[in-house]
Amino acid sequence: MAQESTDTNLGLGFESRLIHAGTTTDPATGSVNVPIYQTSTYRQDHIRGDVTWEYSRTGNPTRAALESLIADLEGGIAGFAFASGMAAITAVLSLLHVGDEVIIPTNVYGGTYRVLDKVFNHFGITYRVVDTTDLDAVEAAIGPATKAALIESPANPLMTVTDLAAVSEIAHRHGLLSIVDNTFMTPYLQRPLELGADIVLHSATKYLGGHSDVVAGLVVVRSDELAQQLAFIQNSTGGVLGPLDSFLLVRGIKTLGVRMDRHQENARYLAEFLRAIPAVARIYWPGFEDFPGYEINRHQASGPGVMMSFELASGYDAPTFFRSTRMVALAESLGGVESLVCHPASMTHAAIPKEERDRVGITEGLIRLSTGIEDKEDILADIEQAIEAARI
Ligand SMILES: *Cc1c(COP(=O)(O)O)cnc(C)c1O
Repeated sequence: MAQESTDTNLGLGFESRLIHAGTTTDPATGSVNVPIYQTSTYRQDHIRGDVTWEYSRTGNPTRAALESLIADLEGGIAGFAFASGMAAITAVLSLLHVGDEVIIPTNVYGGTYRVLDKVFNHFGITYRVVDTTDLDAVEAAIGPATKAALIESPANPLMTVTDLAAVSEIAHRHGLLSIVDNTFMTPYLQRPLELGADIVLHSATKYLGGHSDVVAGLVVVRSDELAQQLAFIQNSTGGVLGPLDSFLLVRGIKTLGVRMDRHQENARYLAEFLRAIPAVARIYWPGFEDFPGYEINRHQASGPGVMMSFELASGYDAPTFFRSTRMVALAESLGGVESLVCHPASMTHAAIPKEERDRVGITEGLIRLSTGIEDKEDILADIEQAIEAARI
């Protein structure tokens, strides 16, 4: 169930709201943390009563605490929690109708591409891949069937920066919904609704959860109308987040600020090292002043983010690199306290056809690094020895 953001927290700073927004003290016990209401249903006094809680697909107090928390943090009017980021994206795409088309960016998350290409196509909903960094291209791509733009900035895995305010403005001029996948930045660094988006969504599996121990998705909307539609879709399609996972997210979000600060500090340390060594041919990270989109990112976000990708120079073998890391694990996912590397071409972006991958730069030698919050010297030493081992 969609919860209106509580206004008990008005006036608090962002880091205080990470800890206090949405979750009010449990009225039954005074517990300072939201209890895990591990129940599927609720006893009712009589039929046709006006009940707050009736069934946990429709609403659950632990989930509701999380939903009001994320609504507050993103500055929207209602939040919705789902069983995964993909369930959240699926719910949002369910706002579309047969014959509608959605614009997605060139570097779109692989799962978003796949659900559109292989599932929503069954229902007559089509997509158009557009370089959303090029505003003229966005404008030119809009036709009578285009009903939404689902954008990401920075986008996975090349950290492509899209001007969220400009794309939202174009979208609104043409009557499109502007939807932003804010997984990589989190509301701590970037708040798309403030930049004009209608809907912001997350794979909360990543930085919001932050500990690689929960799979979850979140959606926040700007208007009452969208809130009602999403509540209906959430309850009808049923991909809701359970109470325990909702609790884990509320817990994870409390430390988002300190984690993101340390993640970014470590990321800068790694990025500067990688950029300076001849073994790295190319590095993609929005924290470099000469990175395309640096200025746009600086205006729309309060930091460069953590995620970076780099390409090994010729003379280095990527598969050997991935076999050689020790503390840093080769794994899907990102955004946890531990550093992870992945191979976008065979992992996160395998669903995208090879020609398309090569065209945009998701090459066989591309390595994506999710910098954790370990000692930065340890992360660097591990990456450095793995690069050394990969020398042919
Ligand atoms: C991981 C991810 C998703 C999908 O989320 P799941 O929680 O894995 O379902 C969507 N968008 C982005 C940008 C992601 O990184």
